[in-house]
Amino acid sequence: MLKKLCYTLQNISVEEPDMTWWKWLFGGTSTRDDSRYLYVYVQCERCRTPVRVRVDIYNDAAVEFDDREREIGYVWRKDIVDAKCFRPIHAEITFDTARREVARHITGGQYIDAATYTVLTTASTSTRNT
Ligand SMILES: [Zn+2]
Repeated sequence: MLKKLCYTLQNISVEEPDMTWWKWLFGGTSTRDDSRYLYVYVQCERCRTPVRVRVDIYNDAAVEFDDREREIGYVWRKDIVDAKCFRPIHAEITFDTARREVARHITGGQYIDAATYTVLTTASTSTRNT
């Protein structure tokens, strides 16, 4: 039973280390903030280095207007630079007015999911000998 609990904790901490431990420590008072942060995983198309970025949807995303000045949603844009080749990856995610994700665009790299990110970061440190 203890083993199973440890396994679960490991899984959670890989994906969301900050929020999970925050909730553990403060008894889930910050559940409303969960949807505020979005983890974006990208991979450089040149050197294949994976990069994780945390998006604060409320602070990092800018309001978008249509040509009649009506609010149509939010957009987050960022030039992400990996630690290996320093080539900028331009990422852009659009949200609707309820801050739900609508679309993703990227140049200089590609989006990957959290599981792929974990595999890639683990592989880069453990397969040097092969
Ligand atoms: Zn790179």
